[in-house]
Amino acid sequence: MPERPVKVRFPPSPTGLLHVGSARTALYNWLYARHTGGSLVLRFEDTDRARSTDDAVDQALRVLEWLGIDWDEGPIRQTERLPVYGEIAERLVTEGSAYRCYCTTQELDAERKQRQAAQLPLIYSGRCRDLTDEQRAAFEAEGRTPAVRFRFDPAGETVIEDMVRGVVQWDNALQGDFIILRSDGIPTYQFANPVDDIDAGITHVLRGEDLLSSTPRQLAVYRALGAPEPLFAHLPMILGPDKKRLSKRHGAVSVEEYRDLGYLAETMRNYLALIGWSFDDKTTVMTTPELVERFTIERVNRSPGVFDVAKLEWLNGEHLRLLEPGRFAEELQAYLERSGSPLAADRERVAEVAPVVQDKLRVLGQFEGFAGFLFGPAVYDDEAVGRVLDDPDAPRALESATEALRRVVEWDAGSIEEALRGACEETGLKPRVLFGPVRIAISGRTVAPGLFESLVLLGREESLERIATLGRRFAVEG
Ligand code: GLU
Ligand code: ZN
Repeated sequence: MPERPVKVRFPPSPTGLLHVGSARTALYNWLYARHTGGSLVLRFEDTDRARSTDDAVDQALRVLEWLGIDWDEGPIRQTERLPVYGEIAERLVTEGSAYRCYCTTQELDAERKQRQAAQLPLIYSGRCRDLTDEQRAAFEAEGRTPAVRFRFDPAGETVIEDMVRGVVQWDNALQGDFIILRSDGIPTYQFANPVDDIDAGITHVLRGEDLLSSTPRQLAVYRALGAPEPLFAHLPMILGPDKKRLSKRHGAVSVEEYRDLGYLAETMRNYLALIGWSFDDKTTVMTTPELVERFTIERVNRSPGVFDVAKLEWLNGEHLRLLEPGRFAEELQAYLERSGSPLAADRERVAEVAPVVQDKLRVLGQFEGFAGFLFGPAVYDDEAVGRVLDDPDAPRALESATEALRRVVEWDAGSIEEALRGACEETGLKPRVLFGPVRIAISGRTVAPGLFESLVLLGREESLERIATLGRRFAVEG
């Protein structure tokens, strides 16, 4: 059989926020499609009408857009294709691969209890498998509406060679005749999913390991329809740093929250790629073109991956540093606008401050707290101020810094640094001892962008004013 061009799909169920696990699945499919020159289909599996919402569809589209994951076909919505599933189910009934089941929920519950007591596998007994026309007519006369069940051959085993997990096999006797169409005509996941994959000509199914157990049923649908089978790659689970399944406890699990905190899409792609895949066991920081070039299923791990926000934050700092300075300023401006920060209004100031913070920020959301003092009055942190007031060297440090700064001729970082270092020599104070109180005086905090650059941006007058204001507190409180 000729090799088919790679075609993959991302079929989220729009029942909630698109979380980190789904985003990784989407990314792997996208990387694989782009790496191979194949194509990606986007499909919403929205047949669970009670739980699917348009909001979830919109949110998923926003996340994909933010992540730069584009698709070549779709988005398809399964609820728009209901007649297709009905027709194919009918065809399977006609061909004998499926049959109508008239059992009521109560009957199925009772059957289940009996099987449990008898320690039989909890699968459907198959009692409607071979109903006669008369029996069917009688059920229908009672007003029962049938579901359609797939006739799953209990003999032998289903075996796949999973691209990640290797050979996996299932005992067919434990699969049971599963429902493909409910009595209301809505298809089940186990049926609509392979029907759509067959229609689209999907060649590779890359999805979470939690779906591994649905493979034999879905493959049976392929076989009944005589369709070419895809290869499967079941991706490892994602755990929190405590090795428990990733959940809210571990921080944000919805991808949009990371965008809102000021993570770059570039970082997110890099980080998600590394949960369960590696290039060479040592390379961490990768651009998206590098990921596309390097991504192969062979290097997807079998063991679970860990989602660690601390590592993500570190990686974002790396990506922020990698940005060309103009682009960094644009990202920062765009972030401030999106997050509704008052600092966004002063574009020019943002552009001036950007180079001073580029090396220091790990997420853009830190900017306001970190550099807000360059846009307006400093907000004084009590602990930082307390530290100055308790420091016996601080009055001398502030005083000599004031004198030195008054004498600076050209108000630039080099001259300011020279002047302040001169003050250290004159007073015999170590740079740390002299600079610390000055930093707190101008920024209100112990952690701030570079001191000399900050003084340049504030200007001499404002800088001296802030130093004097803190100095006066010694008279009052010290
Ligand atoms: N709608 C399924 C889910 O989100 C997709 C399963 C699959 O990829 O086959 O879990
Ligand atoms: Zn039945």
